[in-house]
Amino acid sequence: MRYDIVVVGGAIIGSSIAYHLARDGRAGAIAVIEPDPTYEWAATPRATGGVRQLFSLPENIRMSQASLAFYLDFATTMAVDGAPAEIDFRRQGYLFLTGGDDAAVLEANWRTQTALGARVELLDAAALKRRFPSLRVDDVALAALSPDDGWLDPYGALMGFRRKARSLGVAYLAERVAAIEAGRRSVERVRLASGGAIEASAVVIAAGAWSAEIAATAGMRLPVEPMSRMQHYFDVPAGIEPLPLIRDLAGLGMRPEGKGFIGGVADWSVPAGFDFEVDHGYFERTVWPRLAHRVPALETLKLGRTWRGHYARNTLDGNMIIGPWTGGLANLYVAVGFSGHGIMHAPAVGRAIAELVLDGGFRSLDLAPLSYRRVVEGKAYAEKGIK
Ligand SMILES: Cc1cc2nc3c(=O)[nH]c(=O)nc-3n(C[C@H](O)[C@H](O)[C@H](O)COP(=O)(O)OP(=O)(O)OC[C@H]3O[C@@H](n4cnc5c(N)ncnc54)[C@H](O)[C@@H]3O)c2cc1C
Repeated sequence: MRYDIVVVGGAIIGSSIAYHLARDGRAGAIAVIEPDPTYEWAATPRATGGVRQLFSLPENIRMSQASLAFYLDFATTMAVDGAPAEIDFRRQGYLFLTGGDDAAVLEANWRTQTALGARVELLDAAALKRRFPSLRVDDVALAALSPDDGWLDPYGALMGFRRKARSLGVAYLAERVAAIEAGRRSVERVRLASGGAIEASAVVIAAGAWSAEIAATAGMRLPVEPMSRMQHYFDVPAGIEPLPLIRDLAGLGMRPEGKGFIGGVADWSVPAGFDFEVDHGYFERTVWPRLAHRVPALETLKLGRTWRGHYARNTLDGNMIIGPWTGGLANLYVAVGFSGHGIMHAPAVGRAIAELVLDGGFRSLDLAPLSYRRVVEGKAYAEKGIK
């Protein structure tokens, strides 16, 4: 079997890449190799779906802006046979809260964001309380609110990309990649766990937290590991005003969902590895006290469901790695290490990989600072403030 381009992993990143390659018209035959069409263990359907421009690095801000524009028109752009691709995009805002010394970082980031055209308001505790009366603000030094941001349904977005890519001729093969096999200078084929092989002129690894083990079969070192984190759905008492997606420096994140909320506390210190086992005490011990601290009315919430998913954590600097294998096989590309940003950056990443593969360089956005070169050089390029 032979395809011009093979994408390894077919969740939101792989499917966005496949769509952007296919819509260009120059890519030839494209295959996405995805062992699990139900996406049971993938990070994508387990995500919160937040989209924000609240970053410190210009590349991350610009990618979010490109993705926001894309997601606004998603239902129509991704429609297949007249059926719209619904993602339930709610622009209800994104709110970062900081206390004490961190206010200076929030303010510096605000300068970068607004210089790039993002609409972001800085609020002191009093202004924050006026805007969102149910929040506790006595420990907040400064807040940043970006009203144009929000959240969407990650599974809907994945299915939208996937259906559209297939309608444009992309083949989805329900296979698992066992190894990437190379000649002297370039990748020649991917070996499948079922025994066969697929030859390709270019291969893109987009397998989330599984990417490092796949890259290693070609001799490529990716500093990306699975980081398990829990997320919860809880019902809330009536009377809380519509809130934006809220994040604070203590790792708390929450947003409205239906009649309740989705939220959790990310623990960046967890050891690397896949772990789908739910710790039923974590919510009561760690999450609930912080929720009730931030929104006192949540003292009486009712926990519904808890689940785990995996960030692909880049141990060098926490940011994505995008592009060809600098210093290695020139036709092996990666789009990996998204931590909690893969949904919001998927459209921009898909477009960027299509440009790299088809044009040989970034065209719309220069993402060179996020390329593999910094891994080779050991130079971190990290976010400042809330990750
Ligand atoms: C709890 C939680 C909350 C999050 N909240 C947000 C948020 O608010 N906003 C945001 O932008 N992001 C968020 N994220 C992050 C986001 O979910 C990820 O960055 C994104 O889904 C990554 O997509 P992906 O396609 O790279 O990986 P995944 O969705 O993990 O998909 C990887 C795919 O690779 C496949 N695969 C594995 N091994 C192989 C193999 N050997 N061969 C071929 N295929 C293989 C898997 O089957 C899987 O389908 C959150 C994540 C979690 C866990």
